[in-house]
Amino acid sequence: MKYSSTRGGAPVVGFEEALLAGLATDGGLYVPQSWPGLSHDEIKALAGLPYAELALKVITPFVGADFSRSELQAMLADAYDGFTHKAIAPMVQLDSNDFLLELFHGPTLAFKDFAMQLLARLMDKALANKGRRATIVGATSGDTGGAAIEAFRGRDNIDVFILHPHNKVTEVQRRQMTTPSEGNVHNIALEGNFDDCQHLLKALFNNHDLRDELQLAGVNSINWARIVGQIPYYFAAATALGAPHREVAFCVPSGNLGDIFAGFVAHKMGLPVGKLVIATNVNDILARTLETGRYETKGAVATDSPSMDIQVSSNFERLLFELSDHDSQWLKSFMDDFAQNGVGILGDQVHDKFKKRFAAHRLDDAGTGQTIARLQAQSGYIADPHTAVGLGVAAMMRAQGEIAASMPLVTLSTAHPAKFPDAVERATGEKPFQPETIVAQKELPERFTVLENDFDVVAEHIKKRARVLTACS
Ligand SMILES: *Cc1c(COP(=O)(O)O)cnc(C)c1O
Repeated sequence: MKYSSTRGGAPVVGFEEALLAGLATDGGLYVPQSWPGLSHDEIKALAGLPYAELALKVITPFVGADFSRSELQAMLADAYDGFTHKAIAPMVQLDSNDFLLELFHGPTLAFKDFAMQLLARLMDKALANKGRRATIVGATSGDTGGAAIEAFRGRDNIDVFILHPHNKVTEVQRRQMTTPSEGNVHNIALEGNFDDCQHLLKALFNNHDLRDELQLAGVNSINWARIVGQIPYYFAAATALGAPHREVAFCVPSGNLGDIFAGFVAHKMGLPVGKLVIATNVNDILARTLETGRYETKGAVATDSPSMDIQVSSNFERLLFELSDHDSQWLKSFMDDFAQNGVGILGDQVHDKFKKRFAAHRLDDAGTGQTIARLQAQSGYIADPHTAVGLGVAAMMRAQGEIAASMPLVTLSTAHPAKFPDAVERATGEKPFQPETIVAQKELPERFTVLENDFDVVAEHIKKRARVLTACS
């Protein structure tokens, strides 16, 4: 499998290079040159397989010859080994045709573990094969950082620097990042919001000298391997509910669109997916874009679902590339317009295609709290606020007839409620149950450095600490 940049100005690379590079050299995102297809029978045969076996079948075509089948098989088994539920991605039934896909049984209690646990193993192996070191720099609105640090802590060939917005993540999220004591883990609390973190990250990667000097590698969902790690659970859920004979719709609490883009890829591979529903909080750039065809940033505000407090959605670029039939030139001018004026216009053709496959809606904090309370009253089930945004929007889709009553609708549960105890307590009147790992982290010392939102300050901080530069060889 070969990968090219959405902006058409970077060399075509294999999986391993796309994995290590993250962002392409022309500022675009890597996408496969064609979509591998699974036949009706192949999809049928996935039903009921153990999760790691299903994942192997779904992921293999993306990896090509860069890792052997047995290497990939071992990495997948190992990646899911730290999950606390044997099904890895179990489903809960809420109504005749409404389901919740629980993606929070990994070590940091959010769906990001699915991709990150695999990514860390792939990167470590790729670097070891090349006898190289790398410096990982990532930006987080809360969950990516914890998942990355958990996956990369103590790895010999990799240093990990994570930027999080100072005072804008929950205590549980912060402790997951700041309590690992390994020397290769570095936390930067940036004085700014998540979009500032993401902006600074892009600037680091776009500085080619720095990028080469530090051997920068990205773990945000701009990294193609992150998307790959999230495709299998769409197949697992849909085949459990009757695919490929039956279409299944998904509702996905969204920010950077990495998660739902994986569902779009599953559809491209042949999975019969009904509507893909983008659920956002009041940071609703995607819902507005679907409605109006104008991609226009308004600045992020803090909500009870902080991992979705995003106004510039990095994977939207991959989606636009697809919806425009791989028109790099159009995409480049769209992204340039957006960068310069804060507005990009989809145009009728792309907008129509967007509306055909996707639906979108927003839910504010009050609606999110009501959704948590209602579900608890009905069934005793406690959902986290991100999941509740999804459930509230899913209910709207049913009510509006956007998704037929006969079609199964799976809402992705992206985090464990214990990660967001304050919002859950406000909605239900009680703190959610705290798993053992969270309790243990309260006793551990924290390490992080507060830095101003300034390129040079952050770059210097990283250069002083990255072993790529400091280790004598
Ligand atoms: C990251 C995250 C999301 C948003 O996922 P995207 O891939 O960025 O759209 C939603 N919920 C939780 C809990 C998250 O951590």
